[in-house]
Amino acid sequence: MALQLRPNCEYCDKDLPPQAMEARICSYECTFCADCVETKLHNVCPNCGGGFVPRPIRPSREWRSGVCVTKQTPSDKRVHLKYEASDIAAHIARVGSIPPEQR
Ligand SMILES: [Zn+2]
Ligand SMILES: [Zn+2]
Repeated sequence: MALQLRPNCEYCDKDLPPQAMEARICSYECTFCADCVETKLHNVCPNCGGGFVPRPIRPSREWRSGVCVTKQTPSDKRVHLKYEASDIAAHIARVGSIPPEQR
């Protein structure tokens, strides 16, 4: 199973194509743009409370047989946050001061 390459930021809905260097993911593949992670979420995933890392770029060329972005294609299902802004703010207040490796 390959990492899900989701098409947009869950927070601001910005397009995040597979080659986007600004895509960030948590361990559950919740996907956001770098700007939202830094300025809105303060490195707290609103869905799970985990931290974020840059999403790896899947190769566009088939350097090895069967593995590239045209073989394991990106998801086309746009995902949107299901929490209200006030809920997210409370969540960040609860979790944000704890380093990701200790959450
Ligand atoms: Zn965003
Ligand atoms: Zn998450």
